[in-house]
Order: sequence, then C-alpha cells, then structure tokens
Amino acid sequence: MRYHDSYLDAQTIAKAALAFLDKHGLAHNPIHYAIAYQHISETNAQLSKALSGILDEHSPDPYEMEILFDKYISENKPKSEKSIENLNKCIEHLETVNGESGTAVDQLEHSIDQGTDTDSTLISNIISAAKTVRNAQEKVNKQLAETRQQSDILMKELETARALAITDSLTKLKNRSGMDEYLAALPDKSFKQFCVAIADIDHFKQFNDEFGHLVGDLILKRLGKLFVEELPVPCQAFRFGGEEFVILMPECNLEQAIEVAERFRIVVAHLRFKNARTKKRLPPLTISLGVTGWVKGDDIEHALMRADQALYQAKDSGRNKVCSIKA
Ligand code: GH3
Ligand code: MG
Ligand code: MG
Repeated sequence: MRYHDSYLDAQTIAKAALAFLDKHGLAHNPIHYAIAYQHISETNAQLSKALSGILDEHSPDPYEMEILFDKYISENKPKSEKSIENLNKCIEHLETVNGESGTAVDQLEHSIDQGTDTDSTLISNIISAAKTVRNAQEKVNKQLAETRQQSDILMKELETARALAITDSLTKLKNRSGMDEYLAALPDKSFKQFCVAIADIDHFKQFNDEFGHLVGDLILKRLGKLFVEELPVPCQAFRFGGEEFVILMPECNLEQAIEVAERFRIVVAHLRFKNARTKKRLPPLTISLGVTGWVKGDDIEHALMRADQALYQAKDSGRNKVCSIKA
C-alpha cells in the first residue's frame, strides 16, 4: 500500500491538494490530484523537488504535470527501462561476487607468502579459499544465466521498438523511415527496372468534414489493408503522411507500373463503405496516382518529385486518374 494516512489526515490533505490545484488553475483529474496529494503530504521528496523547481518559475501546465506523474509517480516504467535496470543489477552482482573470490585468493596468497602457517592451517586455508571460489563460481553461473535472460528480453524489446518506429500505427504500413530502410537494403540489380508511384485520396478533407475524422481514419486503415492485399509482389506501399502513400514497384517498367496503379485505382473506386453507426452508405471514395520510372543513379527524391508532378496532373485533370512521367 502506498498511502498510510488516517481518514481524517487524508481528508485534510485532500482539501489542501484541491486548493493547490485551484490555485494553479489545474483540473481536478486523477493525475493532477495524485501529484498534489503526494506533494502536500510530503511523501515524495523527488516529486516535490521537481515540482518546486517549476513552481519557482510558473504554475505547472497539464503537460508538465503529466511528465511529473510519469517520472515520479507512475510505476509503469517502460519495460526496456526495467530490463536495463535488471541487467545493471546483475552486472553489479557479478562484480561483487568476483570481488569476494578475489579477496579469498588474496588472503590465501598472503598467508603463503608469510610462511607462518603450519601445514594443517595452510591446508584448511586452501580448502576454505577453494570453497569460497566454488561458491562464487556458482553464484556467477546463476547470475550469468539471469543476465543472459535479461539481455534476451532487452533484445526482443529493442526489436519491437524498432519495428514500431518504422511502422505507421494506423494503417500498419511502413512509414517513410521504413521506406528508407527498404531502399537501403535493395540489391543493386533491382535498379534495372524500377517505378515509383504516389497515391493520394481525392477530396479527403471534404470527406472528413462531412463524416468526421474517425470515419476518415477507418478509411485510411482499410486502404492500408487493401494495399497489402491487392498490390502484386514485389510492389509495396508506404504511408508517407496524411492521405498520401508511396508505392515502390521493383521489376516494373513504366507500362507495367501504370497498369498496377490503374488496377489499384479501380479496386478503390469500387469499394463501398457503410457508416457503422448510421448504417448509411458512404459516397464512393477515389484516389489519384502519379507514376514515374526510377533509374539507377537517380536520387529517390527526384523520382518522388516526378511522381508528385504526375499526381498533380491526375488531380488537375479531374481526379480518380493515373498519370505518368517518364524517368
Ligand atoms: P485532393 O483531392 O486535392 O487531394 O484534396 P484533399 O482534400 O484530399 O487534400 P488536402 O491536402 O486539401 O487535404 C488532405 C486531408 O486529409 C486533410 C485531412 O483532413 C485529411 N487527413 C490527413 N491525414 C489524416 C488522418 O490521419 N486521418 C484522417 N481522418 N484524415 C486525415
Ligand atoms: Mg488528397
Ligand atoms: Mg494530399
């Protein structure tokens, strides 16, 4: 249990905590309240120190309060932080144990150097030092196994964090960083034939304005799935931001790339969405695409600029279209 105040004490602290929140214009929400309560009851010195630092300058805003909560109250430290702490504890343990066995051997060496021990004392000292070293070795082995376990956990967490960093959380497609990684890992031969397309939802702002951002988000999510289901291998889509997607098309010449883009455009145009709440059909949604070739030695940024120009042409000539520009 974290709080040990009596009923009456807690009531007094609660009143003071709420007065504190009022004084600083902070909403009476659980995060603000927990900070105020711990500060007033002087039960969290680190929190009070950090809070006082802010109070010297100004009243804390909700953002600062949330940071204080995460840092000094929340027990939900990121898993990786806990794993690193555990790993450090294991290492400290190993160092201590190593020190213990070193001391036992040192003592033995010392008594041998002095030559003062009788044979039987010397033998019992050797046996005792050997036992200490054996014990230490067992502890080391145990700790090593634990350290290995912690480092495995940490590696898995790092892998997850890495995957999250290159994935767009809404559409589950890779993001711009994911695309950069993909391009960096491309074998040279892929550059013989390579096309790039940018796809952009038509009049999406209007759609959001009419049906709300949540519905818009669902559309983006569905589109993300559709890219995965419908694009032929090895084509791959990446969310570039907003309602724009880049499609990388290795092993496609311009003609084939236009065909892939055209097929995808038609699939999207035939999608029918229903508003789950109102059960009403939503109007058809369309996308426009700009396609271009990407030749070896050409900067990907140049190719993307060309694809963007082609997209602009598609938008300009009525939308729900595919336009292309040669490399
Ligand atoms: P255009 O046909 O010319 O592309 O028109 P547009 O309205 O699609 O383009 P514009 O650039 O004017 O607006 C893009 C809109 O996309 C703005 C915003 O409402 C919407 N949008 C961008 N990202 C998201 C998102 O993550 N979720 C939702 N729901 N909407 C988004
Ligand atoms: Mg758009
Ligand atoms: Mg756009």
